[in-house]
Amino acid sequence: MESNRQKSLLAHQNNILSKIALGESLNDIFDDICLAIEDIIDDKSAKCSILSLNADRLFHCAAPSMDPKYSEIINGIKIGDAVGSCGTAAYRNSRIIAENIETSLLWQDFKEIAIQFNLKSCWSTPITSSQSIVLGSFAIYHDHPKTPSKKDLELIDYFVNFSSIALEKLQHSSKVEKLINDLEVSNKKLNAFTKVMPDPALILNEDGLYLDVYGSSEDLLAYSVDKLINKNVNDILPKKYAAPIMAIIKKTLSSNEVQVFEYELEVKKGIVIFEGRTTPIIYDQPGAPPQKHVLWVTRDITLRKKAEKEIEKLAYYDPLTNLPNRRLLTERLTRCVERIKRTHKAGALLFLDIDNFKRINDSLGHSAGDELLIEMARRLGSVVRAADTLARIGGDEFVILLEYIGENNKHATNEAAIVAQKLQQVFYDKFQIGALAFQVSGSIGICLIENANSNVENILKFADTAMYRAKVKGGNSYSFYDSRLQTLLEKQTKLETDIIRAIDNNEFCAYFQPQVDIAGLITGGEALIRWKHPIKGLIAPNEFIPIAEQFGLIQKLQNIVLQDICCLINQLVDNNVVDDTFNLSINISQNQFNSSTLKTELLSIVNKFNVHPSRIKLEITESMLAHDPLHTVQQMEELKAIGFTFSIDDFGTGYSCLSHLHAYPVKELKVDKSFIDNISDHASGLSIVEAIINLAKNLDITVVAEGVETQQQFNILKAMHIDAIQGYLIAKPMPFEHYLKWHKQYLISPECFSN
Ligand code: C2E
Ligand code: CA
Ligand code: CA
Repeated sequence: MESNRQKSLLAHQNNILSKIALGESLNDIFDDICLAIEDIIDDKSAKCSILSLNADRLFHCAAPSMDPKYSEIINGIKIGDAVGSCGTAAYRNSRIIAENIETSLLWQDFKEIAIQFNLKSCWSTPITSSQSIVLGSFAIYHDHPKTPSKKDLELIDYFVNFSSIALEKLQHSSKVEKLINDLEVSNKKLNAFTKVMPDPALILNEDGLYLDVYGSSEDLLAYSVDKLINKNVNDILPKKYAAPIMAIIKKTLSSNEVQVFEYELEVKKGIVIFEGRTTPIIYDQPGAPPQKHVLWVTRDITLRKKAEKEIEKLAYYDPLTNLPNRRLLTERLTRCVERIKRTHKAGALLFLDIDNFKRINDSLGHSAGDELLIEMARRLGSVVRAADTLARIGGDEFVILLEYIGENNKHATNEAAIVAQKLQQVFYDKFQIGALAFQVSGSIGICLIENANSNVENILKFADTAMYRAKVKGGNSYSFYDSRLQTLLEKQTKLETDIIRAIDNNEFCAYFQPQVDIAGLITGGEALIRWKHPIKGLIAPNEFIPIAEQFGLIQKLQNIVLQDICCLINQLVDNNVVDDTFNLSINISQNQFNSSTLKTELLSIVNKFNVHPSRIKLEITESMLAHDPLHTVQQMEELKAIGFTFSIDDFGTGYSCLSHLHAYPVKELKVDKSFIDNISDHASGLSIVEAIINLAKNLDITVVAEGVETQQQFNILKAMHIDAIQGYLIAKPMPFEHYLKWHKQYLISPECFSN
């Protein structure tokens, strides 16, 4: 009997193991296990079931002899501490014997169902993996309460073992199946991705061998994909690219971090700037050291780089001349200053400004001005060394930064002067613009850069100041910065603001100084401007006229003077104390005389006061005649045509050639005070005045002596038949009301003024 049982046990065992080995359907195998036990066990009412555990639920696997409805009901049941025999066994991972379902505490919630199917006892054993993880449960039901015998339990354990092997295999194969499925999905995704991906992606091994190449186009590859695969970077790329790429592969693997790098490479499309990114891929392989690969994705950033360069150019270069602009200059100057602070050597900053550029620009138009600037930049560029910076920082302002020119200040000063002279040479040749050729000159200011002078803003300002001084010298020269000059300029700037304030505050007015002829009759007078300063008192014109000229304020002052003149003339006429020949003179400065609006300015005022221009004498100096004679004659003729007359002031001190005097419409000469001062002591003083008077008489020009202070001077001049005199001897310049009084008084008793 025992041997029969043994035999059938063996037969079942063989059958089941061969089915497992052959990988036959697991459900079949589980059915066979159930049937085998039911066949061998003594009690023929025994019915077996196998459930598999998935997460925390049990699912039907096999129960060939049981009512399928029961299997259906318990399918998917959640395991727990009192969930029948199977749910509890799987939950506790221990065998549960419920001899009597009806009385078992574990079956309380489920006994109704079991009894419905005539199931009275249930022994359940967990099926575990080789690592003791619960894979499912095995159960034997009987239709009567029953306790298992030792033999029963042995039999169960025997077949539970097979179930465990089969279940483990089931779980493993479903895992593999899922893995394969997942792999297929991600492979499809990868394929789709690489089809549209514009950036090439390459996989290389640690020796630089191309293993895979992905990407939608071959344009960005040096060779087609099939020529790359299985080739080495060193064989494919020129050495200067291969070596750095190999270094990056090594670094990617050693650091285990993403590397980002830029490189330029000639590919099918042409020369391209790339941004490469690499990341390591390490594959573990059983029984061998891990494989190390690198994924290298590369992107064409040529356009971006170009745009960046363009933007940088706009920010740092002058678009007209392509020279560095103020910003770049300031950056370089800052760096230069830092270095000089460390090295104690000297550099220099040269500030070059084209003389009269505004005139060229205004008269010929901006495009001509631009052409001149471009040519200037070209010429200067050819003089400046590569290590130096030539920048254009404004209209016609060029700056040359010499970062190193000497060990000490003396050396640097000499060198800077040599550079300045070289820069001046660019002006030797005329500038050809369109059909015209121009002689242009420039003024250069130099500021040394050394330890004591290392403030970037100051260096630029000081060079500008020095340039300004070169300009004041008459242009076409260079000048070094010195601090006294700075103080002077600061003073001047203050004065300028004060003048502007004073104009608004009506602090300017004209004083009047009379002129009388040798018979003692008043012929006219000169208006001289005064500044009645609220704090400084009365300020003489020499202190502010040059500044007013420099800063373009002279016209405003002149208008004030002319208005006062017109008022006085009207007053004198109204009072009937002057005849038709009486006139007053006004001093005209160089800038004003050059101005194209002089005529309209003068006219607008005399017309407003209804004063005829013949009452106004314009005093200009000899040097103004010499400057641009053609224009001067034209300007004078125009003014003469409407009635104004001209007097040459400070005559004898300038360079004008006496013989040319006839070319100008001049009515009067004023012999400079310096000759009058000498007239009584020096024979030469006397003869000069005599010569002037004779010349003037020949040209039908009247002569006035200025600064006549003594009776003796007057007597000499009278003997020479001078036309009129002006000076303290007659009267000092007087304010409006004062002059009016004086004039009337003089008419009554002239003798009290001439003694
Ligand atoms: P200027 O045109 O040669 O004027 C004559 C200067 O000699 C005046 O000085 C006058 O006060 C002074 N003077 C007259 N007689 C005598 C004398 O007998 N002895 C001495 N020692 N001096 C005498 P002021 O008013 O200080 O003017 C100085 C200069 O300022 C003028 O020289 C003229 O060039 C300029 N100026 C005066 N007013 C104006 C003006 O409204 N416009 C312009 N552009 N310049 C003016
Ligand atoms: Ca004068
Ligand atoms: Ca004078």
